[in-house]
Parts: sequence; C-alpha cells; structure tokens
Amino acid sequence: MALKLFNTLSRSIQDFVPLDPAGKKAGLYCCGPTVYDFAHIGNWRTFVFADLVRRTLEFKGHIVTHVMNITDVEDKIIKRVRETKTSLREFTGQYETAFFEDLKTLNCLLPHHTPHATEHIPEIISLIEKLVARGIAYRAADGSVYFGIEKYRGCGCTYGQLLKLNFDEMRAGERVKSDEYAKESVADFALWKARVPEDGEVFWPSPFGDGRPGWHIECSAMSMKMLGESFDLHLGGEDLVFPHHEDEIAQSEGATGKPFVKYWLHGAHLLVEGKKMSKSLGNFFTLRDLLAKGFTGREIRCLLLGAHYRETFNFTLEGLQGARTSLARIDECVGKLRELAGGTAAVADADLVNAFTAALDDDLNISAAWGVIFKWVSKMNRNLAGNAIMVAEAASALAAWEKIDSVLGIGLMVETEAPAELKQLIIDRQLARQAKDFKRSDAIRDELKAKGWVIEDTPKGQKLKKL
Ligand SMILES: [Zn+2]
Repeated sequence: MALKLFNTLSRSIQDFVPLDPAGKKAGLYCCGPTVYDFAHIGNWRTFVFADLVRRTLEFKGHIVTHVMNITDVEDKIIKRVRETKTSLREFTGQYETAFFEDLKTLNCLLPHHTPHATEHIPEIISLIEKLVARGIAYRAADGSVYFGIEKYRGCGCTYGQLLKLNFDEMRAGERVKSDEYAKESVADFALWKARVPEDGEVFWPSPFGDGRPGWHIECSAMSMKMLGESFDLHLGGEDLVFPHHEDEIAQSEGATGKPFVKYWLHGAHLLVEGKKMSKSLGNFFTLRDLLAKGFTGREIRCLLLGAHYRETFNFTLEGLQGARTSLARIDECVGKLRELAGGTAAVADADLVNAFTAALDDDLNISAAWGVIFKWVSKMNRNLAGNAIMVAEAASALAAWEKIDSVLGIGLMVETEAPAELKQLIIDRQLARQAKDFKRSDAIRDELKAKGWVIEDTPKGQKLKKL
C-alpha cells in the first residue's frame, strides 16, 4: 500500500509518489535550528517528526537524502551577538554543538547534509542575482535587495500557495526588512540586507554592496543546492508556513520557473501543561531542562511520538511519566522474548509488521501504530505468562519488533543512574556496535573502565555498573 501524507500545498491527503521515475529516491528538506539558544521542546517536536518521516520513508524502501540547514546568521542571532559581544562563529558554535548533542540524545538520525547559511553566501548571492535578472527582485534606496511580490505575480506566478492571502488589503509599495512578519503585513521582503552599524562585523561583500542574507533566501539556496531545483518533501513546524515557506516557494520558483517542492508537511504546535510555552509562565523547557529532571531522551522521544503530527500536542510532565511506564512495559516484554529466543534467527511476524505499516501509511497515524504495539505486547505477555510461546515464535516476534523499532527508534536502553556523559558513551557504544565498528565499541568500553564503570550486556540492553 502507498504511503499517504497530508500535503499543505493541496490541502489534502495524497499518495506519496517521489519525483524519481524509479520511485526509489526521495529528497527531504526540513528547516533546521536557528542556533541562537538551546532548542526547546516545541522545536524538538518538529525534529522528531522529521525523523519519523525519514525513518518511515526508509522503512518503505526509499533511499532518502535528508537535508537540514543550520541557520547561523539572521536577525535574532545578530542581536544576541551584539548583546554578548562575541563573534558570530563563537556565539553560534556553542548552540550548534548543543543541538547535535540533543539530536543524538533523542536518537534522531543525523541528516545526510547539514549545510550552514554562512558557508553558502555565494549560492545565496547567485540566487538573488537570478531574481534581479528576471525583474522579480530589486535594490531599494537603503541598499537592500527586496523580493517584489507584485512583479512575481505579474509573471503569472502565485504568491499564497500554502495559504490564502488577501491582496486587496495589501499596502502597495510596502516593504518589510525583518525576517519575521504577520500575514496582515504581506509586503516585499528582504533577500539581502544592506549593512547597518548594528550588524557589527557580520557582513559579506556582494554585487549589491556589503550586507547579509535574509533568512528565507538561505533555505531556498541550500535546499536547491543539495536536492535540486525540484524535490520531494519539505518539512517544518506550522509556524513556518507564512512567511518563511511561502517566501521559499516564491524565491525558488521565481528564479527557476519550475515547481519547487511536491509535498509540504507541517507539524502542529506543542503546548506545555495546556498553555503556550513561555519563560514567564515557567512552562518553557529545553531538552536539557527535562534531562535535569531525571527523564531520559528515550522517554522524551517516546512522548513526542505519542500524538499525530498534525494535532496540537499537550506536553506534560505527567505524560512523561506515562511514557516511562509504556517503555517499561515494552522493555519487559521484549526482554522476555529475547531471553526465550536466545539469538535464534527468524522471519519477522508479517501480521504485526503489516498492521504497523498500515497505520503509518495512513498519514503517519501514530496512535493507531501504538495501538498495534500495545495490543501485541498484551498478547505476548499473556502467552509468555502461560508458557504458550515457542522459541521460533518469540524470535519471529522479535524480528518484527526490530523492524518496527527502526521507525520508532526507542529501542536503545540505557541505565539512568550513571552520569549523563557516561550515558552518552553507552549510546555511542550501542551505535558503534550496530554499525559493526567493534574497534570503537571496545575503545568506549575501555574508556568507561578507566572512569570506574563497567558495561554489562543484559537481555534488557546495556547496563552500567560501578566497578
Ligand atoms: Zn527554512
């Protein structure tokens, strides 16, 4: 059965058919972090969603090229660089490092390409030059280059593909220089921002004069460089639909005259304890805040995967406790099956895999997928308790679970008592073992030993014990 996904572009659920004539390869771009602070749990919902889409496509047999940009220059970053009196690279570097650590903690697969805006200035400039040459972009009196919406529409192109815009209320001739603005203020937006004193040392030379790129053009330039002028999937949080994604379409299609992206997927908002997350309400959590409360990346990932991506999700600490309980149930069942199977190879239980696949195919219906899993866990527990499972059946169930877990990514088991940096080493060791890099896995074991800890491989996964 075909994978069906809700495409924001068509406002409907469609079969996923990649542009690749062989139907195999799929290009996926997800707007990455703006590295000016630690990513919060709302951001992580989007990245875990992108990871789910990628893993599902791979599970369905596609060869995915996953691109996630790093926005390392834009309005908010420049402001913070100014406030903290640091250099751009020094400032963004610390948050980028933290971002990749967090990505790993949540067991998200590393994208194949993670291009930086500051390393693609020539590509950005050449894209702007194309738009200027086509008469769609123009240099204004302040030296900045703007995208001319009326000029774009005059070429027969549509501005407002992802959402309906009321152009009658548009104020002709207005321009907006900031990266973020509301749809009520639809206006020509900045592609290249002329250098101003507040930018400090953050500027690049260009044919339009010294300056820096706008945020929207960064994504158009980097996605098309990595995936081609037309590609399959573009993901992001729903807050990016306007103006960011609409502007990406306008810039890309304005420059190439070709359709930019076939499927646009947007993840819904996340509330915390029923309210919009805000620092003043005390319900603002970074991943690190939750780890400090004693939760694991695995529990947080499990909870973030709990709701359908197009539903507003209410994240609560109680929900995290629930995720812990659910994982314990799965772990216990899988642990017992492992003991029973004792490494016997088997063909995966097709009924289980098919039921899980059918749920995913239905626009990533994760609630139905969890339903399948917990029904299976109950059945297995019943049969295990009644000694009604043969070795071959246990092995077949385990093989099916491994396929399922290639999508969910919750199978890594780490003891919680050990310090965080050691837990990370356990994850690294497990990944090394999965990649059959035994040299690295042994090196990590020795490193842990030197720190006074020993790894025990148990049916329930790896455990750290004090020497
Ligand atoms: Zn973007």
